[in-house]
Amino acid sequence: MFRNLRVLLLLFILATVAVNAWRARATVSGWQRSLIVGIYPINGDGSPVSDAYLTRLERDRFKPIETYLAAQARTYGVAELRPVMISLARPRSTRPPQPPAGGSAMDAILWSLQMRYWAWRNDDIAGPNPDIRIFVLFHDPQAYPSLSHSVGLEKGMIGLVNAFASRGEDGGNMVIIAHELMHTLGATDKYDPTTLQPRFPGGYADPHQEPLLPQHRAEIMGGRIPVSHSEAAIPRSLDKTLVGPATATEIGWKHR
Ligand SMILES: [Zn+2]
Repeated sequence: MFRNLRVLLLLFILATVAVNAWRARATVSGWQRSLIVGIYPINGDGSPVSDAYLTRLERDRFKPIETYLAAQARTYGVAELRPVMISLARPRSTRPPQPPAGGSAMDAILWSLQMRYWAWRNDDIAGPNPDIRIFVLFHDPQAYPSLSHSVGLEKGMIGLVNAFASRGEDGGNMVIIAHELMHTLGATDKYDPTTLQPRFPGGYADPHQEPLLPQHRAEIMGGRIPVSHSEAAIPRSLDKTLVGPATATEIGWKHR
């Protein structure tokens, strides 16, 4: 009996989520108005360092994402002046369910359902309802020199980002947030998952450059700046990246 109820509840959540995601997608594909992106900062490691960082966190810190996407959209002739508007939720200390490491497709689906449910339960953002929700878990960089990977549910309008609680890392954090945000809008990764090397030509910012390597910028979904055939550097700010034509097509900025 309880099992049936649980299945029913899950199906109900799934249906609600599907309808909402479809509505958001319909809005997104047109780029007729600004999309509201809710950023939900979370103390990811429970540390005092993250706490101190979060108490000083302001909406303006995320402005580079708005400016960047506006400039990139313009290069593809998207008329909307501000394609994305950031809205910042108050910091919280409850952490969302962690994505399965590896795991089966079923694990991934279950996690995405749990994540959507958690997002729905933990939404107390002020102002209009966001179209896209990005949960950012901040970590003390001294204790966590490297972070587990971030996730953007493809076309799912939800992202989970692991970031550093340090002003010095703000630029790098913005790159990761923008990358996951692009996933939620339908963009796909353009790098080799085993070597992390950007794929040519889609994952290159300047595929026509001669000589081709080293590149000086990263394509946002290529993730890194190809330096040689086997090395790539992490971009430290959005200025070091651009949205390539393949990504622009995927998110509806450019028609095939
Ligand atoms: Zn990705």
